[in-house]
Amino acid sequence: MSKDIEIVRTVADLRQRLAAWRQEDRTIGLVPTMGALHDGHFSLVDKAVQSNDRTVTSLFVNPKQFGPGEDLDVYPRDEVADAAALSERGVDLLFAPSVEEMYPDGAVTAVSVPGIGDLLEGGFRPGFFTGVATVVAKLLIQSLPHRAYFGEKDYQQLCVIRRLTKDLDLPIEIIACPIVREPDGLALSSRNAYLKAEERQAAPALHQALINSGKDIANGAAVSASVAAAKSELLNAGFTKVDYIAVCDPASLEELENVTGQARILGAAWLGKTRLIDNIAINT
Ligand code: AMP
Repeated sequence: MSKDIEIVRTVADLRQRLAAWRQEDRTIGLVPTMGALHDGHFSLVDKAVQSNDRTVTSLFVNPKQFGPGEDLDVYPRDEVADAAALSERGVDLLFAPSVEEMYPDGAVTAVSVPGIGDLLEGGFRPGFFTGVATVVAKLLIQSLPHRAYFGEKDYQQLCVIRRLTKDLDLPIEIIACPIVREPDGLALSSRNAYLKAEERQAAPALHQALINSGKDIANGAAVSASVAAAKSELLNAGFTKVDYIAVCDPASLEELENVTGQARILGAAWLGKTRLIDNIAINT
């Protein structure tokens, strides 16, 4: 399905278009992104297009979720290619605001999600989840879709967004979408473009280490031993630093010492200057 996509850049225009659709009783799906779109993003988009009368994608590289020294300035951007691909897939509207439109002079209000937002990624990237929660809350309030789509690739982000949606009484269904991977297991990410050839070769070891850890735990290994094994596996494969490998409760993300039933294994590790994250579900 291909149709012309409309691009709007202001909250007022976004609201006007969506109000008209709501008036016509159309269901609306929202897919928030930072652009540089790949098949991971498209899996969310396709789901939204299939399940809603109208689909909106947002494209905004949110400065508030980048820390000092992170990759804000070099984050890949290609709005023309993104808009063409979204149009091809049947997206109706692309919301691509400027930084000034999202955060006009004087804007100071932030949404923080303590607890679940302080763990794991929150510990290694201070302020990251406040940046994410603030922009996602704004996007949800600006567009008030029936459904909003997020990838399990950013599993902790999904948990933070579920929490804020509940806490702020937003009448929006949060839909989780499975991770899309390369044939060798590497989770698709806009940041994979940073990987040098030999780093790209080593990168699937992150997914593999999580799988091996899950198998070990299912076979009765202690969580601490399987985490230690996964860390050495990564360093042996060429990763330069491991931020964490953690076996967690799938809802609270509290770390587990023993697994009975469902758990999520999450990992973050560096290949040179590039930081990769991944996660898998396990059920023992
Ligand atoms: P980003 O542009 O990186 O902020 O991602 C926008 C959305 O796409 C988020 O909900 C991500 O979790 C999701 N996403 C990114 N990569 C993947 C992937 N490989 N599989 C599934 N969803 C993804």
